Amino acid sequence: MESGNRSSPQLRRAACNSNVERMKTTSPSVIVIGGGIGGLSAARALHDASFQVMVLESRDRLGGRVHTDYSFGFPVDLGASWLHGVCKDNPLAPLIGRLGLPLYRTSGDNSVLYDHDLESCALFDVDGKQVPQELVAKVGEAFESILEETDKVRQEFSEDMSIRRAFSIVFDRRPDLRLEGLAHKVLQWYLCRMEGWFSADADTISEELLPGGHGLMVRGYLPVVNTLAKGLDVRLGHRVTKIARRYNGVKVTVEDGTTFAADAAVIAVPLGVLKANIIKFEPKLPDWKEAAIADLGIGLENKIALHFDKVFWPNVEFLGVVAETTYGCSYFLNLHKATGHPVLVYMPAGQLAKDIEKMSDEAAANFAYLQLKNILPDASDPIHYLVSHWGTDVNSLGSYSYDEVGKSHDLYERLRIPVDNIFFAGEATSMEYPGSVHGAFATGQMAAEDCRMRVLERYGELDLFQPVMGEDGSVSVPLLISRM
Ligand SMILES: Cc1cc2nc3c(=O)[nH]c(=O)nc-3n(C[C@H](O)[C@H](O)[C@H](O)COP(=O)(O)OP(=O)(O)OC[C@H]3O[C@@H](n4cnc5c(N)ncnc54)[C@H](O)[C@@H]3O)c2cc1C
Repeated sequence: MESGNRSSPQLRRAACNSNVERMKTTSPSVIVIGGGIGGLSAARALHDASFQVMVLESRDRLGGRVHTDYSFGFPVDLGASWLHGVCKDNPLAPLIGRLGLPLYRTSGDNSVLYDHDLESCALFDVDGKQVPQELVAKVGEAFESILEETDKVRQEFSEDMSIRRAFSIVFDRRPDLRLEGLAHKVLQWYLCRMEGWFSADADTISEELLPGGHGLMVRGYLPVVNTLAKGLDVRLGHRVTKIARRYNGVKVTVEDGTTFAADAAVIAVPLGVLKANIIKFEPKLPDWKEAAIADLGIGLENKIALHFDKVFWPNVEFLGVVAETTYGCSYFLNLHKATGHPVLVYMPAGQLAKDIEKMSDEAAANFAYLQLKNILPDASDPIHYLVSHWGTDVNSLGSYSYDEVGKSHDLYERLRIPVDNIFFAGEATSMEYPGSVHGAFATGQMAAEDCRMRVLERYGELDLFQPVMGEDGSVSVPLLISRM
């Protein structure tokens, strides 16, 4: 597929012979752009359906927003770490089950609010006093009542509105639901957690809650990436800058000017990259596609992992700091609970995450550590730290997509719909599970199937090729779930 001299003779044959006759004697070729879960899922499926597949990935590693780091001497996920929806209907469950990867269930609840059961959280005021557990539970109930009222308000108004605006209408109507003092701070913490889910500030979120319980990938997500990538032709360090689509195929150009040709392309780069116009399309994408790219929101969540020489914190899954505003609230995931390693992961989202991303790694780690010191004054210094930069990294430019207030949920589908022989995959193209690993995986499968149908119909050889993932998908192995 490469126009330079590095390609194999077989691939060159596919590249040069785009006429119909020749394609009858050789497999159709597809270039997959982006080696995250979405791209790898598409590439795996097309490879298994006997297509010639090449993956062009800009980074020097695969996985994208799945990034398991081993520099502490054990796996720590700096991107995704949960399987949201620990059930057999999760599109990723069969693969995780087959790999025997253990999950630590942090909550069996289906809602956004309780990806951790409340009894496994310890909340502290900024002065270090622990919030009584009964108050946390009481505010949790109040929060649910407020959300119910919020739902009613949103249904009443024809225009979509942010959660924060709906909240203020609810409080005007139902002053009895207003909370004061410490309870108000705990409520802000709940909101802050919700922002973490949608990785945006509460006044921009207009999303419904997601289904499924929540399981942490104890050994990290990387084995999933490696399994999908096994045996694929992957080119790391290949940043795509241009995609030209022609009647008989696509031509893809990377940063150093090298071009690759194939029958079709699957574009599985993040929404943030599409928004930044890093990739030029020739001819330009249709207006409806450009509008979908512009109108979908992309939010930010980061992780700052602090590795200590010993555990000095309470034996809970989550440590939270409550404050007057969501901006001042924060939380730490206790990895020791699930993995046995003395690590706390600070997870800022929204504006706070943006502000922290402007700091050096050292300052960011220090910021996280100071939050910890506020609530646990005897905290010892971390021995190592890791800091993610999902917002400024040119390969992601954001953490995950959300539909902005007033915009249609159809935008995800519009982003997914193919344009001629280019197909789209990735979390932001998932109507059902946007912003998730399993959503990205499912869209890769869909893009592969759409691509297979289109390319093969065109060359009239549908029977020669197997349905995408036809075989593997039928084997089901139960998930390994624990709770300590
Ligand atoms: C901090 C954080 C925590 C998260 N937690 C969870 C979680 O617990 N559970 C969950 O389900 N989801 C979680 N997510 C979301 C999940 O990680 C993503 O939805 C999913 O991994 C996205 O996969 P993708 O294939 O769509 O995109 P990506 O993984 O971003 O893959 C896109 C790929 O394209 C590459 N690329 C970019 N530009 C170019 C270019 N010009 N040319 C070639 N390649 C390019 C990138 O390097 C990348 O490898 C989290 C995300 C973040 C950031």
